[in-house]
Amino acid sequence: MTLTPQEIEEKNIEFESATPQEILRWTMDTFCPNLAMSSSFQTQSVPLLHMVNAIQPKMRIYFLDTGMHFWDTLFFREHLEQIWGLNIVDLYPDEKWRTVLRYFGTEMPETDPNLCCYIRKVQPMQKAMEGLDAWITGIRRDQTENRAHAKFLEYKRDGLLRVAPLLNWSADDIWNYIAEHNLPTHPLPYTQYPSIGCKPCTRAISPGESERAGRWKGKDKTECGLHTEMFNKTQLSDEDFKFKS
Ligand code: SF4
Repeated sequence: MTLTPQEIEEKNIEFESATPQEILRWTMDTFCPNLAMSSSFQTQSVPLLHMVNAIQPKMRIYFLDTGMHFWDTLFFREHLEQIWGLNIVDLYPDEKWRTVLRYFGTEMPETDPNLCCYIRKVQPMQKAMEGLDAWITGIRRDQTENRAHAKFLEYKRDGLLRVAPLLNWSADDIWNYIAEHNLPTHPLPYTQYPSIGCKPCTRAISPGESERAGRWKGKDKTECGLHTEMFNKTQLSDEDFKFKS
């Protein structure tokens, strides 16, 4: 199922005034079963997981097991899986990339975070998405400069449609939904860790800093590559690296 540019444009206008649940229902009606969502299982992930589970409990939810998470994140992922019966699929780097990680994995977040994100996140996600039509993500416009220009529906260069139902939400909307539905939150304190990724690349923020200021702090990097074209297949593929397992 592929939408035309005109259909995308019309839907993007319509979705500016739609609720996340309305966007999700349309997405599921249009693309199931060739549809999945991804989640990083942090506090800001909770409302979207709750909504998706209420509408389509069997939805595939991809979790990138980078091997570098806080134990709190792994605990929270387990907790939500148990209480809601989520259909979580853990994604790992290919064996040939694991060979690279065995030699350089510990130092890579510091020495080459872009390659590290490619191996641990982008490549496993690209592989998992093969054959799908659409992918639901929880990105919001207020999170980064890059995301401020995102659309509800956006085809990426690999032909996959990215659907972002929470695009117009703020951090307050996240908290209001959590309070209204009495939902659990990630064990790390939200005031210090409003955005949580891998442990080596996540720092506590100070009062007044932006939500994602603690991600890759001190580096010229704000995104892992999943939500940009930085590591698109047309720009970088496994074949660009000649490592052999
Ligand atoms: S967030 Fe850091 S540790 Fe995780 S994959 Fe990216 S560079 Fe590596």
